[in-house]
Amino acid sequence: MKKWVLVLFVCVFAFSAQAKTAKNLIWVIGDGMGPSAMGFFMEAIRNSHNPAYPDKQSYLEKFINASDVGLYFNNTHVSIVTDSAGSATQMSTGQFSLPDYIGQDYSGLDVKNIMEEAQARGLSVGVISDAYVTDATPAGFLSHVRSRKQKYDIARQMIDSGADVILGGGLKYFSKGENKKLLKEAKKKGYTIVKNKKQLASAKGKKLLGLFADEAMPFYIEKDLNPNVPTLKDMAQAALRVLSQNEKGFVLMVEAGKIDWALHENDGGASYYEMLGLDETLPVLTAFADKNEDTLIYLNADHETGVPAFSYRHLDEDQVKHKNAQGEMLYGGNTDYIDYKEFDNLAKQNRVLFYVNEDFKKLPKEKQTPAAMQAMMDKALGYHIDLSSLQDPTDYEAVKQRINQAKGLSWNTGAHTSGMLIGVAYGGYDGFTGVYHNTQLKDKMSRALGWTQLPSEEDED
Ligand SMILES: [Zn+2]
Repeated sequence: MKKWVLVLFVCVFAFSAQAKTAKNLIWVIGDGMGPSAMGFFMEAIRNSHNPAYPDKQSYLEKFINASDVGLYFNNTHVSIVTDSAGSATQMSTGQFSLPDYIGQDYSGLDVKNIMEEAQARGLSVGVISDAYVTDATPAGFLSHVRSRKQKYDIARQMIDSGADVILGGGLKYFSKGENKKLLKEAKKKGYTIVKNKKQLASAKGKKLLGLFADEAMPFYIEKDLNPNVPTLKDMAQAALRVLSQNEKGFVLMVEAGKIDWALHENDGGASYYEMLGLDETLPVLTAFADKNEDTLIYLNADHETGVPAFSYRHLDEDQVKHKNAQGEMLYGGNTDYIDYKEFDNLAKQNRVLFYVNEDFKKLPKEKQTPAAMQAMMDKALGYHIDLSSLQDPTDYEAVKQRINQAKGLSWNTGAHTSGMLIGVAYGGYDGFTGVYHNTQLKDKMSRALGWTQLPSEEDED
Protein backbone atom coordinates (compact mmCIF):
# COMPACT_ATOMS: atom_id res chain seq x y z
CA MET A 1 0.00 0.00 0.00
CA LYS A 2 2.76 2.41 1.01
CA LYS A 3 4.65 1.52 -2.14
CA TRP A 4 1.69 2.51 -4.32
CA VAL A 5 1.38 5.86 -2.60
CA LEU A 6 5.05 6.48 -3.25
CA VAL A 7 4.73 5.50 -6.92
CA LEU A 8 1.71 7.76 -7.28
CA PHE A 9 3.58 10.62 -5.59
CA VAL A 10 6.60 10.19 -7.88
CA CYS A 11 4.34 10.10 -10.95
CA VAL A 12 2.45 13.24 -9.95
CA PHE A 13 5.70 15.01 -9.12
CA ALA A 14 7.33 14.01 -12.40
CA PHE A 15 4.28 15.10 -14.36
CA SER A 16 3.98 18.50 -12.68
CA ALA A 17 7.72 19.19 -13.07
CA GLN A 18 7.44 18.67 -16.82
CA ALA A 19 7.15 22.13 -18.42
CA LYS A 20 4.58 22.63 -21.14
CA THR A 21 6.07 22.30 -24.63
CA ALA A 22 5.00 23.82 -27.94
CA LYS A 23 4.61 22.19 -31.34
CA ASN A 24 4.50 25.43 -33.31
CA LEU A 25 6.45 28.65 -32.94
CA ILE A 26 5.35 31.94 -34.50
CA TRP A 27 8.15 34.48 -34.01
CA VAL A 28 7.00 38.03 -34.75
CA ILE A 29 9.71 40.66 -35.16
CA GLY A 30 8.82 44.33 -35.36
CA ASP A 31 11.90 45.73 -37.07
CA GLY A 32 13.14 48.75 -35.11
CA MET A 33 10.16 48.46 -32.76
CA GLY A 34 11.58 49.73 -29.48
CA PRO A 35 9.47 50.38 -26.36
CA SER A 36 8.77 53.98 -27.47
CA ALA A 37 7.28 52.89 -30.77
CA MET A 38 5.10 50.30 -29.02
CA GLY A 39 3.98 52.81 -26.40
CA PHE A 40 3.42 55.60 -28.92
CA PHE A 41 1.06 53.33 -30.87
CA MET A 42 -0.81 51.79 -27.93
CA GLU A 43 -1.31 55.23 -26.35
CA ALA A 44 -2.55 56.63 -29.65
CA ILE A 45 -5.24 53.94 -29.89
CA ARG A 46 -6.27 54.55 -26.27
CA ASN A 47 -6.67 58.30 -26.78
CA SER A 48 -7.92 58.78 -30.33
CA HIS A 49 -10.98 57.82 -32.35
CA ASN A 50 -9.86 55.17 -34.83
CA PRO A 51 -13.11 53.40 -35.83
CA ALA A 52 -11.25 50.08 -36.13
CA TYR A 53 -10.84 50.20 -32.34
CA PRO A 54 -14.24 50.91 -30.74
CA ASP A 55 -12.96 49.71 -27.36
CA LYS A 56 -9.85 51.93 -27.67
CA GLN A 57 -7.48 49.08 -27.03
CA SER A 58 -4.89 47.92 -29.55
CA TYR A 59 -4.40 44.21 -30.19
CA LEU A 60 -0.82 44.78 -29.11
CA GLU A 61 -2.03 45.90 -25.70
CA LYS A 62 -4.39 42.91 -25.42
CA PHE A 63 -1.60 40.60 -26.55
CA ILE A 64 0.82 41.93 -23.94
CA ASN A 65 -1.82 41.67 -21.21
CA ALA A 66 -2.29 37.97 -22.03
CA SER A 67 1.46 37.19 -22.18
CA ASP A 68 4.72 36.92 -20.26
CA VAL A 69 6.97 39.94 -20.75
CA GLY A 70 10.76 40.16 -20.53
CA LEU A 71 13.45 42.72 -21.34
CA TYR A 72 16.62 42.06 -23.28
CA PHE A 73 19.78 43.55 -24.77
CA ASN A 74 21.06 43.08 -28.31
CA ASN A 75 24.72 44.15 -28.30
CA THR A 76 26.97 42.28 -30.76
CA HIS A 77 30.39 40.74 -30.16
CA VAL A 78 32.16 44.08 -30.67
CA SER A 79 29.52 46.82 -30.59
CA ILE A 80 26.87 48.28 -28.30
CA VAL A 81 24.58 49.10 -31.24
CA THR A 82 23.52 46.52 -33.82
CA ASP A 83 21.89 46.40 -37.23
CA SER A 84 19.13 44.04 -38.41
CA ALA A 85 21.61 41.51 -39.81
CA GLY A 86 23.67 41.04 -36.66
CA SER A 87 20.54 40.98 -34.54
CA ALA A 88 18.63 38.48 -36.69
CA THR A 89 21.72 36.27 -36.71
CA GLN A 90 22.12 36.41 -32.93
CA MET A 91 18.44 35.65 -32.42
CA SER A 92 18.22 32.79 -34.91
CA THR A 93 21.57 31.11 -34.09
CA GLY A 94 22.11 31.95 -30.42
CA GLN A 95 25.70 33.00 -31.22
CA PHE A 96 27.34 36.41 -30.88
CA SER A 97 27.82 37.95 -34.30
CA LEU A 98 28.60 41.30 -35.94
CA PRO A 99 26.62 43.96 -37.80
CA ASP A 100 26.18 43.07 -41.49
CA TYR A 101 26.77 39.33 -40.85
CA ILE A 102 24.05 36.89 -41.85
CA GLY A 103 23.92 33.45 -40.23
CA GLN A 104 27.59 33.57 -39.23
CA ASP A 105 29.17 33.99 -35.82
CA TYR A 106 31.63 36.83 -35.19
CA SER A 107 34.53 34.73 -36.43
CA GLY A 108 32.81 34.30 -39.79
CA LEU A 109 31.77 30.67 -39.39
CA ASP A 110 28.35 29.54 -40.58
CA VAL A 111 26.26 28.58 -37.58
CA LYS A 112 23.07 26.53 -37.46
CA ASN A 113 19.89 28.57 -37.16
CA ILE A 114 16.59 27.67 -35.56
CA MET A 115 15.00 26.97 -38.95
CA GLU A 116 17.62 24.34 -39.82
CA GLU A 117 17.14 22.70 -36.44
CA ALA A 118 13.37 22.70 -36.94
CA GLN A 119 13.75 21.10 -40.36
CA ALA A 120 16.07 18.43 -38.92
CA ARG A 121 13.21 17.50 -36.59
CA GLY A 122 10.70 17.27 -39.42
CA LEU A 123 8.97 20.60 -38.80
CA SER A 124 7.96 22.98 -41.58
CA VAL A 125 9.49 26.47 -41.63
CA GLY A 126 8.61 29.80 -43.19
CA VAL A 127 9.46 33.49 -43.27
CA ILE A 128 7.30 36.44 -44.24
CA SER A 129 8.27 40.10 -44.45
CA ASP A 130 6.40 43.20 -45.54
CA ALA A 131 9.73 44.71 -46.62
CA TYR A 132 11.56 42.16 -48.77
CA VAL A 133 12.50 38.57 -48.04
CA THR A 134 16.15 39.02 -48.91
CA ASP A 135 16.36 41.83 -46.33
CA ALA A 136 18.49 41.26 -43.24
CA THR A 137 15.86 39.90 -40.85
CA PRO A 138 14.41 37.04 -42.95
CA ALA A 139 17.89 36.44 -44.41
CA GLY A 140 19.23 35.90 -40.88
CA PHE A 141 16.74 33.04 -40.46
CA LEU A 142 17.34 31.24 -43.77
CA SER A 143 20.86 31.93 -45.04
CA HIS A 144 24.55 32.31 -44.26
CA VAL A 145 26.57 35.08 -45.98
CA ARG A 146 29.24 37.52 -44.89
CA SER A 147 27.23 40.61 -45.85
CA ARG A 148 23.52 41.43 -45.94
CA LYS A 149 24.24 43.12 -49.28
CA GLN A 150 24.65 39.70 -50.97
CA LYS A 151 20.98 39.64 -51.82
CA TYR A 152 21.30 37.31 -54.82
CA ASP A 153 23.22 34.77 -52.71
CA ILE A 154 20.59 35.12 -49.99
CA ALA A 155 17.75 34.49 -52.47
CA ARG A 156 19.44 31.33 -53.80
CA GLN A 157 20.14 30.01 -50.31
CA MET A 158 16.53 30.63 -49.35
CA ILE A 159 15.30 28.39 -52.15
CA ASP A 160 18.04 25.83 -51.42
CA SER A 161 17.00 25.83 -47.74
CA GLY A 162 13.75 24.17 -48.72
CA ALA A 163 11.75 26.54 -46.51
CA ASP A 164 8.05 25.82 -46.97
CA VAL A 165 6.86 29.43 -47.01
CA ILE A 166 8.71 32.52 -48.27
CA LEU A 167 6.53 35.63 -48.66
CA GLY A 168 7.40 39.30 -49.15
CA GLY A 169 9.06 41.70 -51.58
CA GLY A 170 12.32 41.14 -53.48
CA LEU A 171 11.18 39.50 -56.75
CA LYS A 172 14.18 41.02 -58.51
CA TYR A 173 16.65 38.90 -56.54
CA PHE A 174 14.85 35.71 -57.57
CA SER A 175 14.44 36.56 -61.23
CA LYS A 176 17.30 38.68 -62.51
CA GLY A 177 21.07 38.54 -63.10
CA GLU A 178 22.70 35.38 -61.77
CA ASN A 179 19.33 34.21 -60.43
CA LYS A 180 17.52 34.50 -63.75
CA LYS A 181 16.43 30.87 -63.57
CA LEU A 182 15.77 30.66 -59.85
CA LEU A 183 11.98 30.88 -60.09
CA LYS A 184 11.99 27.99 -62.58
CA GLU A 185 14.12 25.97 -60.19
CA ALA A 186 11.81 26.85 -57.31
CA LYS A 187 8.84 25.61 -59.31
CA LYS A 188 10.65 22.32 -59.96
CA LYS A 189 11.24 22.00 -56.22
CA GLY A 190 7.51 22.14 -55.65
CA TYR A 191 6.90 25.79 -54.87
CA THR A 192 3.63 27.41 -55.86
CA ILE A 193 4.69 30.88 -56.98
CA VAL A 194 2.33 33.82 -56.45
CA LYS A 195 2.79 37.51 -57.22
CA ASN A 196 -0.33 39.32 -56.03
CA LYS A 197 -2.96 39.40 -53.32
CA LYS A 198 -5.55 37.39 -55.24
CA GLN A 199 -3.14 34.58 -56.15
CA LEU A 200 -1.96 34.45 -52.54
CA ALA A 201 -5.49 34.10 -51.18
CA SER A 202 -6.24 31.09 -53.34
CA ALA A 203 -2.78 29.46 -53.35
CA LYS A 204 -2.71 25.77 -52.57
CA GLY A 205 0.12 23.29 -52.06
CA LYS A 206 2.77 22.44 -49.55
CA LYS A 207 5.37 25.02 -50.55
CA LEU A 208 4.60 28.66 -51.18
CA LEU A 209 6.84 31.37 -52.64
CA GLY A 210 5.17 34.79 -52.88
CA LEU A 211 7.07 37.79 -54.22
CA PHE A 212 4.88 40.87 -54.41
CA ALA A 213 7.30 43.66 -55.38
CA ASP A 214 10.60 43.91 -57.19
CA GLU A 215 12.23 45.44 -54.13
CA ALA A 216 10.45 46.30 -50.88
CA MET A 217 6.68 46.06 -50.54
CA PRO A 218 4.75 49.35 -50.17
CA PHE A 219 4.22 51.03 -46.83
CA TYR A 220 0.98 50.09 -45.07
CA ILE A 221 -0.13 53.76 -45.06
CA GLU A 222 -0.15 53.61 -48.89
CA LYS A 223 -1.94 50.26 -49.14
CA ASP A 224 -4.96 51.79 -50.86
CA LEU A 225 -2.65 52.96 -53.67
CA ASN A 226 -1.50 49.33 -54.07
CA PRO A 227 -4.69 47.23 -53.90
CA ASN A 228 -3.11 44.14 -55.51
CA VAL A 229 -0.38 43.86 -52.92
CA PRO A 230 -1.14 41.73 -49.84
CA THR A 231 -0.67 43.09 -46.32
CA LEU A 232 1.26 41.43 -43.51
CA LYS A 233 -2.07 40.07 -42.26
CA ASP A 234 -2.85 38.52 -45.66
CA MET A 235 0.58 36.90 -45.77
CA ALA A 236 0.27 35.57 -42.20
CA GLN A 237 -3.08 33.95 -43.02
CA ALA A 238 -1.65 32.24 -46.09
CA ALA A 239 1.50 31.11 -44.25
CA LEU A 240 -0.51 29.52 -41.43
CA ARG A 241 -2.72 27.73 -43.95
CA VAL A 242 0.31 26.11 -45.61
CA LEU A 243 2.47 25.44 -42.55
CA SER A 244 -0.27 23.97 -40.37
CA GLN A 245 -0.54 21.02 -42.78
CA ASN A 246 2.51 19.51 -41.07
CA GLU A 247 1.39 17.45 -38.10
CA LYS A 248 4.84 17.69 -36.53
CA GLY A 249 4.54 21.47 -36.33
CA PHE A 250 6.28 24.52 -37.75
CA VAL A 251 8.40 27.59 -37.09
CA LEU A 252 7.23 30.79 -38.78
CA MET A 253 9.09 34.12 -38.63
CA VAL A 254 6.84 37.11 -39.30
CA GLU A 255 8.67 40.39 -39.89
CA ALA A 256 6.89 43.75 -39.72
CA GLY A 257 9.86 45.23 -41.53
CA LYS A 258 8.78 48.71 -42.46
CA ILE A 259 8.22 49.92 -38.92
CA ASP A 260 11.98 50.44 -39.01
CA TRP A 261 11.85 52.35 -42.30
CA ALA A 262 9.18 54.76 -41.04
CA LEU A 263 11.09 55.29 -37.78
CA HIS A 264 14.35 55.93 -39.66
CA GLU A 265 12.46 58.62 -41.57
CA ASN A 266 11.15 60.15 -38.31
CA ASP A 267 7.72 60.10 -39.98
CA GLY A 268 5.09 59.95 -37.21
CA GLY A 269 2.09 59.12 -39.40
CA ALA A 270 3.92 56.43 -41.36
CA SER A 271 5.21 54.91 -38.09
CA TYR A 272 1.68 54.86 -36.67
CA TYR A 273 0.36 53.06 -39.77
CA GLU A 274 3.19 50.50 -39.86
CA MET A 275 2.37 49.65 -36.24
CA LEU A 276 -1.27 49.37 -37.30
CA GLY A 277 -0.30 46.86 -40.03
CA LEU A 278 1.38 44.71 -37.38
CA ASP A 279 -1.47 45.24 -34.94
CA GLU A 280 -4.16 43.93 -37.29
CA THR A 281 -2.01 40.81 -37.86
CA LEU A 282 -1.87 39.87 -34.17
CA PRO A 283 -5.49 38.64 -33.81
CA VAL A 284 -4.93 36.29 -36.79
CA LEU A 285 -1.98 34.77 -34.95
CA THR A 286 -3.62 34.59 -31.53
CA ALA A 287 -6.77 33.04 -33.05
CA PHE A 288 -4.55 30.31 -34.51
CA ALA A 289 -2.73 29.83 -31.19
CA ASP A 290 -6.00 29.68 -29.26
CA LYS A 291 -7.34 27.03 -31.61
CA ASN A 292 -4.05 25.11 -31.67
CA GLU A 293 -3.05 25.31 -28.05
CA ASP A 294 0.45 23.97 -28.59
CA THR A 295 1.54 27.21 -30.28
CA LEU A 296 3.99 29.73 -28.84
CA ILE A 297 3.87 33.26 -30.22
CA TYR A 298 6.90 35.37 -29.35
CA LEU A 299 6.87 39.06 -30.33
CA ASN A 300 9.94 41.25 -30.11
CA ALA A 301 12.22 43.65 -32.00
CA ASP A 302 15.70 43.32 -33.45
CA HIS A 303 16.75 46.78 -32.25
CA GLU A 304 15.27 50.17 -31.50
CA THR A 305 15.02 52.85 -34.20
CA GLY A 306 14.15 56.56 -34.04
CA VAL A 307 12.62 56.63 -30.54
CA PRO A 308 9.43 58.68 -31.05
CA ALA A 309 7.80 60.40 -28.09
CA PHE A 310 5.78 63.53 -27.50
CA SER A 311 7.57 66.31 -25.69
CA TYR A 312 6.24 69.59 -24.29
CA ARG A 313 7.18 72.92 -25.84
CA HIS A 314 7.23 76.56 -24.82
CA LEU A 315 4.89 78.96 -26.44
CA ASP A 316 6.67 82.07 -25.11
CA GLU A 317 10.18 82.15 -26.53
CA ASP A 318 11.20 85.01 -24.25
CA GLN A 319 10.44 82.91 -21.19
CA VAL A 320 12.58 80.06 -22.49
CA LYS A 321 15.56 82.39 -22.93
CA HIS A 322 15.40 83.37 -19.27
CA LYS A 323 15.06 79.93 -17.75
CA ASN A 324 17.48 79.06 -14.94
CA ALA A 325 19.81 76.08 -14.83
CA GLN A 326 17.18 73.88 -13.19
CA GLY A 327 14.74 74.72 -15.94
CA GLU A 328 12.29 76.23 -13.42
CA MET A 329 10.61 78.45 -15.98
CA LEU A 330 9.79 75.38 -18.04
CA TYR A 331 6.78 74.67 -15.88
CA GLY A 332 5.20 78.10 -16.33
CA GLY A 333 1.68 78.47 -17.66
CA ASN A 334 2.73 79.11 -21.22
CA THR A 335 3.80 75.57 -21.98
CA ASP A 336 2.06 73.23 -24.43
CA TYR A 337 1.97 69.70 -23.01
CA ILE A 338 0.49 68.41 -26.30
CA ASP A 339 -3.19 67.86 -26.92
CA TYR A 340 -4.65 64.38 -27.54
CA LYS A 341 -5.77 65.61 -30.97
CA GLU A 342 -2.22 64.88 -32.15
CA PHE A 343 -3.06 61.17 -31.92
CA ASP A 344 -6.03 61.71 -34.25
CA ASN A 345 -3.78 63.79 -36.51
CA LEU A 346 -1.42 60.84 -36.95
CA ALA A 347 -4.29 58.79 -38.33
CA LYS A 348 -5.23 61.54 -40.83
CA GLN A 349 -1.97 61.11 -42.73
CA ASN A 350 -2.26 59.15 -45.99
CA ARG A 351 1.23 59.13 -47.57
CA VAL A 352 4.83 58.62 -46.54
CA LEU A 353 6.24 62.17 -46.36
CA PHE A 354 9.51 61.09 -48.00
CA TYR A 355 7.57 59.95 -51.08
CA VAL A 356 5.64 63.22 -51.18
CA ASN A 357 8.97 65.00 -51.42
CA GLU A 358 10.08 62.57 -54.15
CA ASP A 359 6.94 63.56 -56.09
CA PHE A 360 7.71 67.24 -55.44
CA LYS A 361 11.21 66.83 -56.90
CA LYS A 362 9.70 65.33 -60.05
CA LEU A 363 7.71 68.51 -60.73
CA PRO A 364 9.10 70.83 -63.41
CA LYS A 365 11.59 73.21 -61.78
CA GLU A 366 9.33 76.24 -62.08
CA LYS A 367 6.55 74.38 -60.26
CA GLN A 368 8.72 73.44 -57.26
CA THR A 369 7.40 76.38 -55.26
CA PRO A 370 6.75 76.86 -51.52
CA ALA A 371 3.01 76.89 -52.32
CA ALA A 372 3.28 73.53 -54.10
CA MET A 373 5.18 71.96 -51.17
CA GLN A 374 2.62 73.38 -48.72
CA ALA A 375 -0.31 71.99 -50.73
CA MET A 376 1.30 68.56 -51.17
CA MET A 377 2.20 68.25 -47.49
CA ASP A 378 -1.26 69.42 -46.35
CA LYS A 379 -2.84 66.78 -48.57
CA ALA A 380 -0.53 64.02 -47.30
CA LEU A 381 -0.96 65.01 -43.66
CA GLY A 382 -4.73 65.39 -43.98
CA TYR A 383 -4.58 68.78 -42.24
CA HIS A 384 -2.68 72.07 -42.41
CA ILE A 385 0.72 72.71 -40.83
CA ASP A 386 2.06 76.16 -41.75
CA LEU A 387 5.46 76.02 -43.45
CA SER A 388 5.60 79.68 -44.53
CA SER A 389 7.99 80.90 -41.83
CA LEU A 390 10.70 78.44 -42.87
CA GLN A 391 13.75 79.97 -44.50
CA ASP A 392 13.31 77.54 -47.39
CA PRO A 393 9.81 75.99 -47.35
CA THR A 394 10.84 73.62 -50.16
CA ASP A 395 13.70 72.04 -48.17
CA TYR A 396 12.33 68.64 -47.17
CA GLU A 397 14.48 68.16 -44.05
CA ALA A 398 13.39 71.56 -42.71
CA VAL A 399 9.77 70.80 -43.65
CA LYS A 400 9.86 67.49 -41.82
CA GLN A 401 11.37 69.10 -38.75
CA ARG A 402 8.65 71.75 -38.74
CA ILE A 403 5.95 69.09 -39.07
CA ASN A 404 7.35 67.15 -36.09
CA GLN A 405 7.65 70.41 -34.11
CA ALA A 406 4.05 71.30 -34.85
CA LYS A 407 2.94 67.85 -33.64
CA GLY A 408 5.13 68.09 -30.52
CA LEU A 409 6.72 64.83 -31.64
CA SER A 410 10.37 64.41 -30.72
CA TRP A 411 12.85 61.88 -32.12
CA ASN A 412 16.07 60.77 -30.56
CA THR A 413 17.77 59.78 -33.81
CA GLY A 414 17.35 58.81 -37.46
CA ALA A 415 19.34 55.65 -36.73
CA HIS A 416 19.32 52.66 -34.34
CA THR A 417 19.92 52.83 -30.61
CA SER A 418 21.16 50.30 -28.05
CA GLY A 419 17.92 50.74 -26.09
CA MET A 420 16.61 47.77 -24.13
CA LEU A 421 13.83 45.88 -25.90
CA ILE A 422 10.60 44.16 -24.94
CA GLY A 423 9.95 40.47 -25.60
CA VAL A 424 6.39 39.17 -25.28
CA ALA A 425 5.61 35.43 -25.09
CA TYR A 426 2.01 34.24 -25.61
CA GLY A 427 0.83 30.75 -24.82
CA GLY A 428 2.02 30.04 -21.28
CA TYR A 429 5.56 28.77 -21.91
CA ASP A 430 8.37 29.10 -19.37
CA GLY A 431 11.54 31.15 -19.65
CA PHE A 432 10.54 34.46 -21.19
CA THR A 433 10.40 36.80 -18.19
CA GLY A 434 13.26 38.74 -16.60
CA VAL A 435 16.26 40.41 -18.22
CA TYR A 436 18.24 38.53 -20.88
CA HIS A 437 20.21 38.90 -24.12
CA ASN A 438 19.09 38.18 -27.66
CA THR A 439 21.66 35.36 -27.98
CA GLN A 440 19.62 33.46 -25.36
CA LEU A 441 16.45 33.49 -27.43
CA LYS A 442 17.23 30.44 -29.55
CA ASP A 443 17.82 28.39 -26.42
CA LYS A 444 14.60 29.69 -24.87
CA MET A 445 12.68 28.76 -28.02
CA SER A 446 14.30 25.31 -28.17
CA ARG A 447 13.29 24.59 -24.58
CA ALA A 448 9.75 25.81 -25.19
CA LEU A 449 9.59 23.51 -28.21
CA GLY A 450 10.83 20.60 -26.13
CA TRP A 451 14.04 20.29 -28.14
CA THR A 452 16.12 19.12 -25.22
CA GLN A 453 18.27 16.82 -27.33
CA LEU A 454 19.96 17.12 -30.68
CA PRO A 455 17.97 15.39 -33.45
CA SER A 456 20.70 12.74 -33.89
CA GLU A 457 20.41 11.82 -30.20
CA GLU A 458 16.65 11.62 -30.50
CA ASP A 459 16.99 9.27 -33.47
CA GLU A 460 19.01 6.85 -31.36
CA ASP A 461 16.17 6.36 -28.86
ZN1 LIG B 1 16.25 46.11 -38.06
